[in-house]
Amino acid sequence: MEVITAKKAGFCFGVEKAMDIVEKQISDNDGSYDVYTCGPLIHNGEVIKNLKAGGVHVIENDEDIDSMETGDRSKKVVIRSHGVAKAVIDKLNEKGFEVIDATCPFVKRIHNTVMQESHKGNGVIIVGDPDHPEVRGIMGWCECEPIVIESTEDIDRIALKEDTKYCVVAQTTFNHNKFKDIVEKLQNLRYDVTVVDTICNATYERQCESREIAKKVDTMIVIGDTHSSNSKKLYEICKDECEDTHFIQTLDDLNLENTNSVRLVGITAGASTPNYIIEEVQKHVRIDF
Ligand code: SF4
Repeated sequence: MEVITAKKAGFCFGVEKAMDIVEKQISDNDGSYDVYTCGPLIHNGEVIKNLKAGGVHVIENDEDIDSMETGDRSKKVVIRSHGVAKAVIDKLNEKGFEVIDATCPFVKRIHNTVMQESHKGNGVIIVGDPDHPEVRGIMGWCECEPIVIESTEDIDRIALKEDTKYCVVAQTTFNHNKFKDIVEKLQNLRYDVTVVDTICNATYERQCESREIAKKVDTMIVIGDTHSSNSKKLYEICKDECEDTHFIQTLDDLNLENTNSVRLVGITAGASTPNYIIEEVQKHVRIDF
């Protein structure tokens, strides 16, 4: 079977960097410290299972931090690429834990922007999903109460002040076109807004490339965790272009039917899918069909 695999499939720069940092902490560990990540490192059950086997513990919430004792072993806490609120880092430092910040530089740039803008007395509008950890982290760097919106309709529901300047930023994985519509509506309503487009190109480029591949192939395979929003989005994009699109987490989930009529298969993967899973699927499709 002929296969086209997206060049941008799998770990993005930020996730790769965070993975490298945690893997180094595991390999350097002479048994004298414990390694933690603030939340699961990435949205991929397979990877989390492997990290757990390597001795990495996951801090799920604030209460977990409260209950952690310094004890006689040092603790190293890695902040994942999504980033966390400033208060979380402060709390970890206060408890005497070593904080290793693997926040993606693109997310860090948003933290710095909202911190500086709110410090100047400006309002902050974050365009994104208010329940997403990245957005909750960004909110936690504002020195004001930020406003979070996800759609143009949300603008009608919020109370913006005529005499206040607002800085608008976006969750890194937010849809470009939706962000443009939101900004346009805010500007048309004559609010004083400064827009910082913080959408990460890694996501956009992966989506564009996957869409182009899905247009050409008979069958499309999207590999990603069911909890990964960027993988689900990739699936939707590919499904729009190629009816026979499959969303799988690992090779075990792959169930291709009627392969007699399939000549060309496309493969893409979300930002939290490790390379070895992509390679396994690619090899299987190429050789076994
Ligand atoms: S998607 Fe972009 S912003 Fe998010 S971790 Fe990856 S490189 Fe960083």
